[in-house]
Amino acid sequence: MVIFALQITRILTDIIQLLPDNIANQIAAGEVIQRPGSAVKELMENAVDAGADEIKLIINDAGKSLVQVIDNGRGMSATDARMAFERHATSKIKNIEDLFKIKTMGFRGEALASIAAVAQVELKTKREEDESGTYIEIENSKVKQQEPIASNKGTSIAMKNLFFNVPARRNFLKSNTAELRHIVEEFTRVAMAFPDVFFSLQSNGQEVFHLEKGSFKQRIVQILGNNYNAKLVSVQEQTDYLNIMGFVGKPETAKKTRGDQYLFVNNRFIKSAYLNHAIMNAFSDLIPKDSYPMYALFIDLDPAQLDINVHPTKQEIKFEDDKIVYAFVQAAVKHALAQFSITPTLDFELDPSIERLDAISKPVSPEQKSSTASSSLYQAFTQKNQAHLIEKGSNLQHWKDFYESPDNTQSQKDSNFEKQLLHQPVENTFPLLQLHQTYIIKQRQNGFVVIHQQNAHERILYEKYANAVSGKPIATQQSLFPATLELSPADTVLMNELLSDMKELGYQLEPFGQNTFVIQGTPADVDSGNEKVAIEKMLEQYKHFSSEVKFSKREKLLRSMAIQHAVKSGIALTQKEMQNIAEELFLSEMPSSTPSGKPTFMNFDKSDMDKMFGR
Ligand code: ADP
Ligand code: MG
Repeated sequence: MVIFALQITRILTDIIQLLPDNIANQIAAGEVIQRPGSAVKELMENAVDAGADEIKLIINDAGKSLVQVIDNGRGMSATDARMAFERHATSKIKNIEDLFKIKTMGFRGEALASIAAVAQVELKTKREEDESGTYIEIENSKVKQQEPIASNKGTSIAMKNLFFNVPARRNFLKSNTAELRHIVEEFTRVAMAFPDVFFSLQSNGQEVFHLEKGSFKQRIVQILGNNYNAKLVSVQEQTDYLNIMGFVGKPETAKKTRGDQYLFVNNRFIKSAYLNHAIMNAFSDLIPKDSYPMYALFIDLDPAQLDINVHPTKQEIKFEDDKIVYAFVQAAVKHALAQFSITPTLDFELDPSIERLDAISKPVSPEQKSSTASSSLYQAFTQKNQAHLIEKGSNLQHWKDFYESPDNTQSQKDSNFEKQLLHQPVENTFPLLQLHQTYIIKQRQNGFVVIHQQNAHERILYEKYANAVSGKPIATQQSLFPATLELSPADTVLMNELLSDMKELGYQLEPFGQNTFVIQGTPADVDSGNEKVAIEKMLEQYKHFSSEVKFSKREKLLRSMAIQHAVKSGIALTQKEMQNIAEELFLSEMPSSTPSGKPTFMNFDKSDMDKMFGR
């Protein structure tokens, strides 16, 4: 009786159940499919894995209502087509050892199962050898329809109404322009890695990309724009341990944003702050600080030297020996820049020092690895004054700086001081003085003020532009001979997003065919002939802010314009110009700092100065 009662309570209190498949898949989908762009990546990679040489991506409403990938790859049998949507269903690995021999993009067997759990999916597929193809409709992980169809060789997968059954996640999607940008990013990353595959991207019926097969160099130019045409330096190093090939932009093409930076390992786009640092280091004396060179580099090495299974979307990987890879990448880029006479001196010997390393010249076994690490060559490899110096502590610490943006949210100072200053009689009879073509010295009754010309002007313009977009548009000066502006497809997406705000700020741009805009008018302070450069630079600056989620699109635009148009340090100013800056600065609402928190002026009291001089 007692035992029976115990059993009853156990039954009543046991609480664990297995989740139904569709719910389990929905949860798993959270890792792999976060937004339409994630589906773009997975579906395109599947098409590449299927050996296609023609891959078309079609999207509607920034992928929210449709993401479709059509390929001419090997297709699937009727049974495989059904199996493909099961979780952990993959044709790419069979056992755990295979994980270290991976040559395909996919291997986790999760993508299709995840997509089918959070969207409505239509699949059409046919293998060359089959009479007819297969059509499958699936929704909420459940097959709604499966039938034979007539079709060409290859596969088409359409993902419709993403998150139709998970409203909470649907609500998390960003604006169409933001989602479209993610899509373009993912599309570009796959397309860049496979120049011998034709890719196209059609968005709401309009073809945004049309990438004919070609060389890798041609693919870069197709994607990043003609500006890079004569501006690429080839990087190529081959050793037994790894090969590096690709291109870096000449130093003069370095931009304010890290946008045009691509790193692939075994054809997979990866993010690596560590290797990025290696490349930045190779460029260090050739480009201004805070600017980013273009690069598209492919590192190929034995898959056994990698773990790609450390991140759900495989964007991060682990190298067996990341220091060697770092040294290689840095040396290869330096070498390339040196060969093209871009860097005057070569302060290292590339080939001998690297190639003599055991780890490189011989296959790696665990014993060899430890002996290599203690060998004098390895030690030399990491010694000071070598180009590929990897010093623990110092160097390795500051590579993080590249990724962790400086805290420029310096709090606004109490503005009492500015108010006082404003209402103090200022002695206008004294001329203003410019020092180092950077500072404006203005005398006032009880001391003097040192104004930083660039910072001050940035503040003034920022407020002027902010007023403009809140109802006092800036006058446009119509161009007599309108110039055209050709942008990369990705920048075109961005520009379309900004057109209406730009108009308030005096820039009148009109779309003109694919990736081209006509500059009908600019604000009066832009010199004619300079419009294109001004807009391109503004766009760069804008992208520089684009990781700042805390800013609205408009805020980023205002800040970009202010930075772009502000008079720079190093420019000689006339009395009149200095006076304008000084006056307008103290008339602005927050005169003490730039929008990003840099001080605009410093005040020096005469009494303090007197004390310093013992008076
Ligand atoms: P994975 O790519 O990791 O294997 P997926 O869920 O993306 O997992 O795909 C499951 C399987 O479906 C793949 O292993 C492949 O066999 C098949 N498959 C998916 N997409 C295609 C395609 N476009 N063409 C041919 N086969 C495909
Ligand atoms: Mg896949």
